[in-house]
Amino acid sequence: MLRRFRLEEPETISEASSLLARHGESARIYAGGTELLLVMKEGLARYERLVNVKKIPGLDQIKLDNGSISIGALATHRRVTADALLQQHLPALVALEKNVANIRVREVGTIGGNLCFAEPHADPGTLLLALGASVVAAKDDGRREIPIDRFFVDAYENALADDELLTEIRVPRMPARSAAAYLKFGYLERPSVGVAVFLQCDGKAVRESRVAVGCAGPMPRRVSGAEELLRGKSLDEASRRLDEAGAIAGRASDAISDLHGSKEYKEHIVGVLLKRAFAQAAEQCR
Ligand SMILES: Cc1cc2nc3c(=O)[nH]c(=O)nc-3n(C[C@H](O)[C@H](O)[C@H](O)COP(=O)(O)OP(=O)(O)OC[C@H]3O[C@@H](n4cnc5c(N)ncnc54)[C@H](O)[C@@H]3O)c2cc1C
Repeated sequence: MLRRFRLEEPETISEASSLLARHGESARIYAGGTELLLVMKEGLARYERLVNVKKIPGLDQIKLDNGSISIGALATHRRVTADALLQQHLPALVALEKNVANIRVREVGTIGGNLCFAEPHADPGTLLLALGASVVAAKDDGRREIPIDRFFVDAYENALADDELLTEIRVPRMPARSAAAYLKFGYLERPSVGVAVFLQCDGKAVRESRVAVGCAGPMPRRVSGAEELLRGKSLDEASRRLDEAGAIAGRASDAISDLHGSKEYKEHIVGVLLKRAFAQAAEQCR
């Protein structure tokens, strides 16, 4: 049952931040509510005040900004899938977003809410890691940019201060001859394993590679060992090293045994998805 709460409706970031600062642990930001209301209904969390940030103008904008693509934290999953700029510049993110949750959740759930909740079985964080994204946190008296690999702190924990809002996700524009792919596997409501690969090619060589794994462990993470193994190799040579890269990524995924499968099973699936995601990205690079 959902207990009574007070709904605050600030119209600026500063007002929202002041409310969070004033009410501390008893208040929470309310975006789409798809996670928040669920945990409140189930009695897992109790907040006296919800700070609805949907009335703050501009927080759902998607635009090109200074060499990066800026995605407002309040853009819903549905909005991300339908945006022409993202379809052109970040097709891998659009493809990922089309497969997040179900149509009801995509319609109201936001990309910012997904990242802030930091649920381990979530998709966008893993791809955003491979894309080298950052997020913007804002409060009453300023804003700061946080590289996404420092945003996830643990399961359900992010790097925001108590009075900060996530306002924006910034993704560098894809360089020439680069491509990214994200693949996931799961048989429950949420994914069991997700793997993202970013490649930038120079002729037939891998100039830059980034690999990220998610869902298997408490939070998504980059896998520098696998990246180094693939970087600087020809695409053919890199393809031959994928078993090794997959084993490294599996171990680095920090997989835990749970309802989604055993640690060993998840580590194996990481390797399988890495091979397939690499093949997809390499094909686009070629
Ligand atoms: C049935 C179901 C299936 C799902 N399946 C998937 C899936 O397959 N893949 C996947 O990736 N995700 C999945 N999800 C998660 C879904 O993507 C999230 O529920 C949604 O994106 C959360 O966004 P929201 O706007 O509703 O957040 P809310 O519920 O409003 O907020 C979530 C948390 O983030 C905080 N928050 C929200 N916005 C901000 C902000 N701007 N700044 C600071 N803090 C903020 C809130 O205070 C709250 O603690 C699923 C969810 C459900 C319910």
